[in-house]
Amino acid sequence: MSLNEQLKKVSDHYTSIVYEKANLADSQELADRIISFLTEKKIIHKELSDCVLGSTGHKPAENFGSILEKQYEGFLDSKPNGLEIITERSVFENGGNGLEQVNCPNCGQNQIEEDWGSALENWYDNTESDLVKCSNCLSENPITKFNFEPNWGFGDFGLIFWNWGKFKSEFLIELEKVIGTELTIVYGKL
Ligand SMILES: [Zn+2]
Repeated sequence: MSLNEQLKKVSDHYTSIVYEKANLADSQELADRIISFLTEKKIIHKELSDCVLGSTGHKPAENFGSILEKQYEGFLDSKPNGLEIITERSVFENGGNGLEQVNCPNCGQNQIEEDWGSALENWYDNTESDLVKCSNCLSENPITKFNFEPNWGFGDFGLIFWNWGKFKSEFLIELEKVIGTELTIVYGKL
């Protein structure tokens, strides 16, 4: 890999669009609906190819720029530049750059120093006990109710767009109509 390519790798970024209330039963149906919607508009190609990191995804098609606020030069030739569709329980995080705050939904106090390991594990396992107790107000709330800064998303369904950049708000509104719910946007950078 050339130095240029390596430098480029360092700055890969991605946008995750997360459906936080999905359940596993309908994730695949949702994925099919999104693929149809985006291929009809020629935003992505239907067939899967090697265009995301560590998996397969959908390459951008000729109208990809219509949903973006700004197009990056050389985007079509760069890699990764695909759409990865996640249909299993995942934490959509900001790329391992760390969190600044995790605030209690009840009193607002930063609880980042608390032990999050078992609550996270329980959430992944889909058990009932993903409650975290706030050390300040002593209220217990599911891990997904805490306010993460930068934003994180928790869900069974998500779209990860590699290096696409910022989407037009009209597109996100349209997508919410297709999926039928509010969506959480998570910006990540490697
Ligand atoms: Zn609290």
